[in-house]
Amino acid sequence: MKDISVKQFLQDVKSGNIDLNDFFSGVIEKCEVIQEKYDAFITLLEKLQAPRSKGKLYGLPLSVKDNICTKNIQTTAGSKILEGYIPPFDATAIDRTRNEGAVIIGKTVMDEFGFGTFSVNSTYGIPKNPLDLDRTCGGSSGGASCLTSAADFPHVALAESTGGSISCPAAFTGTVGLTPTYGLVSRWGLIDYANSLDKIGCIGKNVYDIALLLSAIAGNDSHDSTSLSVPKQDYTKYLTKDVKGMKIGIPKEYFEGVNENISKIIWAAIKKLEDEGATYKEVSLPHTQYALPSYYIIAVSEASTNLAKYAGMRYGLHMALQGNFDEYFSTVRSNGFGEEAKRRIILGTFARMAGYRDAYYLKALKVRTKVIEDFKKTFKKFDVLAAPTMPVVAPRFDEIEKLSPIEVYMMDILTVAPNLAGIPMISVPAGEVNGLPIGLHLMGDHLEEKKILQVSHAFTKT
Ligand code: GLN
Repeated sequence: MKDISVKQFLQDVKSGNIDLNDFFSGVIEKCEVIQEKYDAFITLLEKLQAPRSKGKLYGLPLSVKDNICTKNIQTTAGSKILEGYIPPFDATAIDRTRNEGAVIIGKTVMDEFGFGTFSVNSTYGIPKNPLDLDRTCGGSSGGASCLTSAADFPHVALAESTGGSISCPAAFTGTVGLTPTYGLVSRWGLIDYANSLDKIGCIGKNVYDIALLLSAIAGNDSHDSTSLSVPKQDYTKYLTKDVKGMKIGIPKEYFEGVNENISKIIWAAIKKLEDEGATYKEVSLPHTQYALPSYYIIAVSEASTNLAKYAGMRYGLHMALQGNFDEYFSTVRSNGFGEEAKRRIILGTFARMAGYRDAYYLKALKVRTKVIEDFKKTFKKFDVLAAPTMPVVAPRFDEIEKLSPIEVYMMDILTVAPNLAGIPMISVPAGEVNGLPIGLHLMGDHLEEKKILQVSHAFTKT
């Protein structure tokens, strides 16, 4: 089995040049090897379902982050509390990819409920970076980026971002990650972390692959009341244009505290785009410094209410009924949730408590509005914004162990603002520092996926 591009593979399958049964057995074998080496999966399927249709993704292997519900396939969101949960239904994004003929190969590792930046907060193994086994693949969609980077067969990954969980793992593994506009892809069947922030998106080896996957999953869904009324479209059609005349804004706050070698690579990327006909100018997004605390207050507040339903009654972990209900709930929850989930339940409950709500939660919402206004103003003058995706290269696990929870939260400093604003963003590989990949982050205005796809494609093509 040769490693061919997704585009080539789909053409070959269509014209009958690939025997799908042989191909799938090869894929399973390869995934077993990848699992052995890197721990990308929570569930790796032993038998694959035949494609539902001969649609636009006919026969294409698809991996799914484990917080997206898949019918008859265990879905844990990386948490012990959901061990053994088998959804009786497919999330809308899954249904749509299956309708186009995609074939699910497994569920990928993630930080518990998405709580993390390095995929070390999972009950089901820690994915190792295929480029250096001592380093993280990023998080929380670490299994998705791990598999995408390791796979030597055509494959795309469904992932999810609340505050950076697609961009970060893409940057750390040299893959491409797209977080769509909030509401463009239905959240129906996505296990909630923070409802006002969660977005299903894509990780792939190149821009074409994610544009293709986005075309399958985007568009209005009556099951999700926050889903936007936008028609389906083919996003690959935006990949033919160059960047001539595109106006690129460079937010200066996004270079503060960033490793100097990383900044150099991003500036080289900007110059390359200029050489290809784009113009650029530095801009200021003055509320950027408040985005991180605001994000964490909103995210943990929503998370703590979402996690209330895991009480050993309806979903997942059940235990022997002993003592009164309060005692039962606390036994189940103490056993089922990991340390970071517990920390966020406590923080979120505090931020929403009577007497503190105005000082924390409501203030954070006001800051969020300011962050959105910064972006809206800037996009009146620019087509896209360009910045580094992460302030550091993928850290080693022994470095991660030494970080305090706050230091881990600080790693999200460049990704939380666009996630708070719900604007679309793509991380593409821009170069390397000491052999480790660096991500260029391209951000666009709401529903301007086409512009970031156009620029990222033009950038990565040459
Ligand atoms: N690292 C961020 C957090 O822990 C983002 C996670 C995500 O996007 N799911 O909240």
